[in-house]
Order: sequence, then structure tokens, then C-alpha cells
Amino acid sequence: MCLGFCVHLCCKFLIMKVLLLNPPFPEMLLRDNYCCHTSKGDYVWAPTDLLYVSGNLSHPDIEQKVIDAIVEKKSSEKVIAEIEDFQPDVIVALSGTASFVSDMELLAKVKDRIKCRLYVMGNIAAFEPRAFLNKFPMIDGIFHNFFDEKILPFVLNPLHTAKSISARLPDGSIILGEVNYLGKHEIPQPLPPNYSLFPLHLYSTPISLRSPMASVITSFGCPYVCKFCVASGLNLYHRSIENIELEFDEIHRNGVREIFFMDSTFNTSHARVREICELMLKKNYGFTWSCNVHSHRNLNQTFTLMKKAGCHTIQIG
Ligand code: SF4
Repeated sequence: MCLGFCVHLCCKFLIMKVLLLNPPFPEMLLRDNYCCHTSKGDYVWAPTDLLYVSGNLSHPDIEQKVIDAIVEKKSSEKVIAEIEDFQPDVIVALSGTASFVSDMELLAKVKDRIKCRLYVMGNIAAFEPRAFLNKFPMIDGIFHNFFDEKILPFVLNPLHTAKSISARLPDGSIILGEVNYLGKHEIPQPLPPNYSLFPLHLYSTPISLRSPMASVITSFGCPYVCKFCVASGLNLYHRSIENIELEFDEIHRNGVREIFFMDSTFNTSHARVREICELMLKKNYGFTWSCNVHSHRNLNQTFTLMKKAGCHTIQIG
């Protein structure tokens, strides 16, 4: 009896608690994909950065919790109370231009009350990582690429730094990471997100036909060079079809029937669009979906197949 009790306590002690936080804000705010803007209509989707970090942190020694204070309309006080209740060892929080001041105020309060490591993802943190970490001593690091599987070993042990992470080391020194850290032949293949942790029933867009809806990214960055757009500064990487299939399987298991493809440009390659459509047809998921496409590509080449695979709406840029 004694042995069982001790084993239970030891196992509990070894579990690392990680909180994925989309901080509160008075307006419906979308912070993801290194961008931040208010919802101009009746649309809000799951923050994709946190989704993919949740997949990359899938590990038997990690217990994850998600607070999406935006879609759940939680106040700062409520969020702080929930964090105190959960007692995380690590917090990964989003931040963005529109909410930057209130985000930093909240995170400073949290760090005053909870002894934990605190990491941030978002555009302002990524612009000047050294200046950011110097100005906000409560932040322990910045994740520059939510697709990177190396987030897991770093979270388990902060000495395992990675090229996609800016970090304050235990001796106080700072190492700098970057977004475009991968060589041409290195392709990040994230584990499927932990969709069950997110309040999927609360996400929707006016163009989604069904609920629950998932937001999926099959490629990172964009090959076009529009100067006003953050995606133009990111190298283009395509996830493998096998890697996307794992995510489709996970989405399907979680009862999702609608997908909003969040790729900056879904049709960067006709061959790839065909492969994704053929996968959806072969596995008979029954998804309905929408995506962003670029008008420079000859859309007629893939329209019929896309429609057959469940596409009902495209947003043309
Ligand atoms: S095509 Fe669209 S996503 Fe790509 S750089 Fe231009 S505006 Fe950004």
C-alpha cells in the first residue's frame, strides 16, 4: 500500500504542466500566424500558433491546458485565477500589436504570482527579440516558429535551445533565434494539434457551412512579395502529405466537419492542391472547407477537384 502511494506521488511530481494562453482583450481579437487584428465581422478561429504548439508538446510527461480568453470572453481576473489554480510550470502566451500593452501587464502580474517559465509568440516579440527580452525581464523566451518540433525538448529542458527560439539562459545571457532558420531541404513536420483542448464549438466564420470548425495550415509562409504583408517575409515550406493526413485524422476523430485552411496562399502549387484534395477524397472524411488563393495561379486547373473534395468557398487575393 505504501509503495503504491509513493509511486503515485512520484509520477505526479514528474508531470510538467504547460498552459497555452490566448490573453484576454475587450474586443474580439485574432492573434496568430505572427499577425494580430480585430475581428471585423462575426468570425473567430482557434489561434493556429497555439494549436501547433499543443501538438508539438504532446508528451506523456506534459499536462497541457488551454485558455482562449478571447473566444471564451474571460476577464484578466478570471484568467489569473485559473492560472493560479492550474499552477503551470510553463506558460506559452500569444501577444500582438493591438493588445501589446495589456498583454505585457497581464503577463507581469502572472509572473509576480506564479513561479514559472514564460514564453511568448507574436509579431512584436519577433521584430526585435533582444530588445524585447531586455525590456520585459519576466519573459524567458520567444518562439519564432510554432511548427518546430524542437520546442518540445526546449520546454522539457531550457538548456536544449533551438534556432527557432530566442531564450534567456539560466546565467542571464540571451541567445537569439529567428523565423527563417531552416535550410531549403529542412521541412518542419509538426505533430497533430491537440484539438480536444480547444473550445472548438465556439469558433466559426460567416463562410463556414458547418460546426465545429478547425483552422489548418498546410504550408508556412508565401512565395509572393507584397511589401505590406508579414507572410512575404517568411520562407515557404510545405508540410508533407503524410503529415497533413495525421492532422486530418485527428480532426476527424474530434468530430470536426469544417476546415478553414489558414495557409497564406493555399494554391502555391497545383500538384499539391491535387494531392490534398485526393487525400480528402480517398479517406472519405466528408469535410467541407474554404481557403485563401492567389489570383495569379490558373484556378481553373484545380477548381473541379477542389469542389469535389468539399471546397465551397475561396477567398481570392
Ligand atoms: S500573396 Fe497574400 S499572403 Fe502572399 S505575400 Fe501577398 S498578401 Fe501576403
